[in-house]
Amino acid sequence: MSVQVVSVAAAAKVPEVDLKDLSPSEAEPQLGLSTAAVSTMAPPAGGGDPEAPAPAPAAERPPAPGPGSGPTAALSPAAGKVPQASAMKRSDPHHQHQRHRDGGEALLSPDGTVTEAPRTVKKQIQFADQKQEFNKRSTKIGRRSLSRSISQSSTDSYSSAASYTDSSDDEASPRDKQQKNSKGSSDFCVKNIKQAEFGRREIEIAEQEMPALMALRKRAQGEKPLAGAKIVGCTHITAQTAVLMETLGALGAQCRWAACNIYSTLNEVAAALAENGFPVFAWKGESEDDFWWCIDRCVNVEGWQPNMILDDGGDLTHWIYKKYPNMFKKIKGIVEESVTGVHRLYQLSKAGKLCVPAMNVNDSVTKQKFDNLYCCRESILDGLKRTTDMMFGGKQVVVCGYGEVGKGCCAALKAMGSIVYVTEIDPICALQACMDGFRLVKLNEVIRQVDIVITCTGNKNVVTREHLDRMKNSCIVCNMGHSNTEIDVASLRTPELTWERVRSQVDHVIWPDGKRIILLAEGRLLNLSCSTVPTFVLSITATTQALALIELYNAPEGRYKQDVYLLPKKMDEYVASLHLPTFDAHLTELTDEQAKYLGLNKNGPFKPNYYRY
Ligand code: NAD
Repeated sequence: MSVQVVSVAAAAKVPEVDLKDLSPSEAEPQLGLSTAAVSTMAPPAGGGDPEAPAPAPAAERPPAPGPGSGPTAALSPAAGKVPQASAMKRSDPHHQHQRHRDGGEALLSPDGTVTEAPRTVKKQIQFADQKQEFNKRSTKIGRRSLSRSISQSSTDSYSSAASYTDSSDDEASPRDKQQKNSKGSSDFCVKNIKQAEFGRREIEIAEQEMPALMALRKRAQGEKPLAGAKIVGCTHITAQTAVLMETLGALGAQCRWAACNIYSTLNEVAAALAENGFPVFAWKGESEDDFWWCIDRCVNVEGWQPNMILDDGGDLTHWIYKKYPNMFKKIKGIVEESVTGVHRLYQLSKAGKLCVPAMNVNDSVTKQKFDNLYCCRESILDGLKRTTDMMFGGKQVVVCGYGEVGKGCCAALKAMGSIVYVTEIDPICALQACMDGFRLVKLNEVIRQVDIVITCTGNKNVVTREHLDRMKNSCIVCNMGHSNTEIDVASLRTPELTWERVRSQVDHVIWPDGKRIILLAEGRLLNLSCSTVPTFVLSITATTQALALIELYNAPEGRYKQDVYLLPKKMDEYVASLHLPTFDAHLTELTDEQAKYLGLNKNGPFKPNYYRY
């Protein structure tokens, strides 16, 4: 059975996406969403099971072009094969720097250990030990247990949409409250179940910008590709995640959920989910002890055992590894979103300790593009505006780094009438900046005249104390890269400089002569600290997560081994296609003759794996 995906918007005008189109070969039977979406998403791999995809590479960079790739590659037997990890290793022999979704920095050391340097000190990821006891907890919200460590992803501050219902005088820990939803269930722990109505409105707003999930839900009216799936999840609990969870529910899954970050939960959304029957264990301002308690409540349940994991940061996966390793006998797969969590999975795989297949959704093309380019293009202005109320027209801005993030920032600022300068170390990106009409300069050349300095390099000490000393009065300094070391903020902590907190996330740093600079978010990621992430961006990620779960859950025995897999390009293309109807976009179809000429299947994939978009 093949089921039509009917898009929410403009369904009548846009050719509907049919999952059967995702099939890698015409001959493959159409078995409905569960298997159609899924079977399809696996590219043919060389050797062994012809359907089994090769494990994904350990690094995000595309491989060097080689045999079996390219437009004509479909003609060769190796077409579509995902290269092995070894072929994709980054060249930096010391550390591989990766962006952390929440602003932290993941460093992959030569010995394979993942460390993070999210703030000023490099810190090894640690997970709570197995003998955690939850009864020795502090009852005051926000007080941390000093004896336990959690990964940085769970502590980094994360922007959240305005919460209309948070009440600072409600100091009681949710763990001390007896709460029931309107159906009488008390299998949840949220701040205040009475906030559910507010949360429901937030979720409904998010649904408008998450067309692909809504399309998947429509499909679910006919079939339940996740029937029998018991998904335990650990993600940010926001309106967008709620749309994902409710979609998974509509596709037939049972879910239990905890927050991957102690600050990012929207209490009213958690309440709305609990009211809708989802066992959610999360609230804003959890203590470290609460954090692990919530995860444990999702996993350690009588009569319920998860068979799928959806993780963001790796904490949930590691909790199960440490506390309940036997659970992996029933778990069919792990879907991981974050850079840190993905590295952790690669480590496990390398050590031969990964006991189930895992999907790396972080490195899918659509996610990367939306996260880096489009998200930053939108949120740079938002972050600057919310913190400074500034006008952009005519302002002189220097953007350091012209990668995806830099390109997004430059495009947005140029469109607002700013005069934009770019600094780069890479001649290719530098030439791109020139061709796009930006003046390529050294930071020193413009530092005295610019009104705004934005770093987007992923590098360290791009803006030094010397630069900061030379900036003009009222210059705004901020960072869009993953680590807070791009601007040497530590160098500003000297006795002769005065720090004045003028707003949340806004500091004036004042020199003895009265000059002041405006430092945003203390040099951490501006957009994640000071604005929200566009829902449409999260829609891409959430759709990818949902499809990865469907794929792993329905994959026939043996298709996936105990390794980490990248999502096949066809799946990326499918995620993109599900978002096209929103724009009333009309995709051109290849004619048979054209497909033959290009050596492509008419239904995709349309690009080789190394294609850079
Ligand atoms: P990228 O590698 O495509 O671009 C970074 C660019 O900076 C490169 O072109 C590099 O040559 C250049 N560069 C490095 N050192 C430099 C220096 N000293 N001076 C000038 N240029 C220099 O990476 P990207 O995808 O653009 O991401 C950039 C950073 O932003 C990363 O840290 C990434 O993790 C982070 N990021 C942030 C967000 C966000 O929402 N704020 C989203 C995605 C990625």
